[in-house]
Amino acid sequence: MTSSQPSYIIVGAGVFGTSTAYHLITKYPQASVTLIDRNLPHDATRVAASWDWNKVVRADYRDPLYCRLALDAQDVWRSDPLWRPFYHETGIFWITPTDFAQEVLDNYKKLGRSTEGLFSVPVDAAKSRYGGLFDDADYTGVRNVHVNETSGWADAKGALRAVTEKAVELGVRFVGAEIEGLEFGDDGACVGVKTADGEKHYAAHVVLSSGAYTPKLLDGIAHATGNEAFRAGGRIIAAGVTTGLAKVDEPTAKLLEGIPVVIQEIPPERGASNGLLPLTEDKMLKWWGQTIFKNVQTMPSGQQISAPPAAKDYAQWKVPDTLIQDVEFANKATFGQRGEGWKIEQHRICWDAVTPSEDFIISPHAASKGLYVATCGSFHGWKFFPIIGGYVVRMLDGTLDPGLKDRWAWDRELPDVDDNESWPVKELKDLK
Ligand SMILES: Cc1cc2nc3c(=O)[nH]c(=O)nc-3n(C[C@H](O)[C@H](O)[C@H](O)COP(=O)(O)OP(=O)(O)OC[C@H]3O[C@@H](n4cnc5c(N)ncnc54)[C@H](O)[C@@H]3O)c2cc1C
Repeated sequence: MTSSQPSYIIVGAGVFGTSTAYHLITKYPQASVTLIDRNLPHDATRVAASWDWNKVVRADYRDPLYCRLALDAQDVWRSDPLWRPFYHETGIFWITPTDFAQEVLDNYKKLGRSTEGLFSVPVDAAKSRYGGLFDDADYTGVRNVHVNETSGWADAKGALRAVTEKAVELGVRFVGAEIEGLEFGDDGACVGVKTADGEKHYAAHVVLSSGAYTPKLLDGIAHATGNEAFRAGGRIIAAGVTTGLAKVDEPTAKLLEGIPVVIQEIPPERGASNGLLPLTEDKMLKWWGQTIFKNVQTMPSGQQISAPPAAKDYAQWKVPDTLIQDVEFANKATFGQRGEGWKIEQHRICWDAVTPSEDFIISPHAASKGLYVATCGSFHGWKFFPIIGGYVVRMLDGTLDPGLKDRWAWDRELPDVDDNESWPVKELKDLK
């Protein structure tokens, strides 16, 4: 590496970090780009929220900004040979008592996008769609079901591996290591990272894309440096949601062929939504539960911070009964009696970094020059995988659109979390 060569270290190889590495090396082929993660891309399982069997890819958003970005991301999912093999446009079936359908339609129209394939159906008609498979779902309080035939899902771990491999092929260096701290120059600027083994890596730009672990990592840095300004404070919280999978037999798989993603926003008192993802290649159906929770612990600094459990694997496969029932509830709410015989297994708690407004943080960190944050998917960040790194690169280059710069800033006004139905209020320790 020559001193004039731009250099970047990205901590965390989830969708934010991997997309950033890919976009950086594509835009600056001569740059030194190092992507560091405690898990390797081909590990059988990983702690990343981005590692999963599948994720919903949709542009159905109430917020016009994320609707626009998701539509842009979908264009890439559909057309680019790197992403296309992992995308399945099965459609989506929204069971919600709100006026969501109209809001989505309005957003598509305002953005000049075609609304073909987007429509609302009264509940009775909705029940007879897909061969009547969802006729026993819970439609309490729902007048119309919103269908978007242009949404779908993607193979999450497949896409994550493929894009990491592509980035490495283009020149990104992947390092498997646990990052514990930062390195600073004489002027206080961040110049690198330190691993748990004491190894040091240096670069002019250090980007934290460490997902749910970010507040804990920053707390350790604040403790080590005595600089409180590193802490995440009320900006980011680690929160969990439970998933579970059922392997279905051949006849059931036949029956379920061509089903859409289902998202259900009832009953609201359980949380934001539960949902169902269609069959994977190996005939697994996946649900997510409606309960969102935190895990507040006392850090060595004495601070109380919500973080994934301390175990190396975030204890993600150790799921308490209440949360297993939360996934069973999702099955019952979508399939009713039809799903009763299906054995749901492989329960996992998936941890994400969430912000009070559910906006990402893509920003310089205020505490140190050379340090940046690009994460906080807030339970909806995965679908932006093809494009999000492009925005991180613009942030690093100082060319991010001023509106986005303010919206994704480290220092921005924090809304009242009481207005956010996805904000975790329950504690993992109380969900036994
Ligand atoms: C149950 C669930 C379902 C979801 N469903 C969807 C969906 O359907 N569609 C959608 O768009 N979004 C969805 N999301 C949200 C989405 O998965 C996340 O927002 C997104 O994956 C976050 O990406 P990330 O890169 O910020 O973090 P992660 O994917 O968590 O990656 C962070 C990485 O940083 C690494 N790391 C952390 N600390 C360190 C350290 N100190 N040293 C080394 N490595 C470190 C971790 O190992 C990890 O690989 C869902 C989230 C959950 C939890």
